[in-house]
Amino acid sequence: MDDCLFCKIVNGDIPSTKVFEDTFVLAFRDIAPQAPSHILVIPKKHIGSVAEIDTDNSYVIAHIFEVIPAIAEAEGLTGGYRVVSNCGSDAGQTVNHLHFHILGGKALSLEMA
Ligand code: AMP
Ligand code: ZN
Repeated sequence: MDDCLFCKIVNGDIPSTKVFEDTFVLAFRDIAPQAPSHILVIPKKHIGSVAEIDTDNSYVIAHIFEVIPAIAEAEGLTGGYRVVSNCGSDAGQTVNHLHFHILGGKALSLEMA
């Protein structure tokens, strides 16, 4: 996806503060953190949103949820954390490349952060 912001981060065309990377997944710090720890976990392969998860790509989603606990532990989120994915305009999705927010480091309100 030539004009996708997060594909450009995966490709290294746009810098990010990486916290985890493997074959399928990249995790980096959100540029506008809504909590003391605010990390985005994305598939390296372009998937637009939760609405595009299917039987062909769901192994990547499973893998994302395998690495999230390790990322949270490395971040020291011993008090817990929230995992959020906004899907579509009503949810406020602003980047159309699937991402899971990890939010933590404080007692979170019932707002997203
Ligand atoms: P959403 O609104 O759920 O689509 O989340 C998109 C997130 O991407 C927001 O929390 C933004 O702050 C974050 N974001 C946008 N551009 C960048 C960037 N270049 N590096 C890191 N995070 C970004
Ligand atoms: Zn993309």
